[in-house]
Amino acid sequence: MRIVRFEMQGRTGYGLLEGERINVLWGTPYDGGLANTTGEVVSLPEVTLLAPCEPTKIVAIGLNYRDHAAEIGHPLPDEPLIFLKPSTSVIGPDEDIVYPEMSRRVDYEAELAVVIGKPCRHVAAEDFRDYVLGYTCINDVTARDLQKKDGQFTRSKSFDTFAPLGPWIETEIANPDQLTVAAYLNGERRQHGNTSNMVFGVATLVSFISRIMTLLPGDVIATGTPSGIGPMREGDVVEIRVEGIGALRNRLVSWEK
Ligand code: MG
Repeated sequence: MRIVRFEMQGRTGYGLLEGERINVLWGTPYDGGLANTTGEVVSLPEVTLLAPCEPTKIVAIGLNYRDHAAEIGHPLPDEPLIFLKPSTSVIGPDEDIVYPEMSRRVDYEAELAVVIGKPCRHVAAEDFRDYVLGYTCINDVTARDLQKKDGQFTRSKSFDTFAPLGPWIETEIANPDQLTVAAYLNGERRQHGNTSNMVFGVATLVSFISRIMTLLPGDVIATGTPSGIGPMREGDVVEIRVEGIGALRNRLVSWEK
């Protein structure tokens, strides 16, 4: 099942996408459940898709792919290396990523995003599925020059528009640790990995993070990026594709617009 969040004629809502039909939900996917539809059906071309969830925080993982750690010459971490991206960095499908005035190098990072479905604290790895609503695509946009300069991640990962999310939440992913993850820049493939190459799988990540902070409905875990990271320029179109989910497309624009 695909869960969308949309805007239509000034109102926003959640719905279940079947083909091009959206069955509108009464509330959110978290409170009313997915069977609680209003009976109203709208069509995909009529709406603007928004980021499919509204995270209070995005917990992102650094160096979680063996090939990516190798490409930057970094040893593998012995525990998940986590950092946060703020809620204000989120944008939806087809919204513009704004190139910040402060940076001279802005990179794409294609990642599988885990969307949390209910409050999640001190969860055992084997129970992770009870707390996951579904999966979507995220571009963990990074000001690489500032990441190197600062020696920590907050500024480089946190600019407004640096967390494109979408296009929808797919609830029927049987095995999140066996999905191809790819990035395309202006139609050319730049990243192509598989979540089976992750150092820490989704069950471990949900459990590990839940022992540090309470994850809330709509919160997102960005699971790390495979090798092939690289810069984007103003005017570029970047697309993140995750197997079984779909494609998330955004354009890069100048901060001066
Ligand atoms: Mg990343």
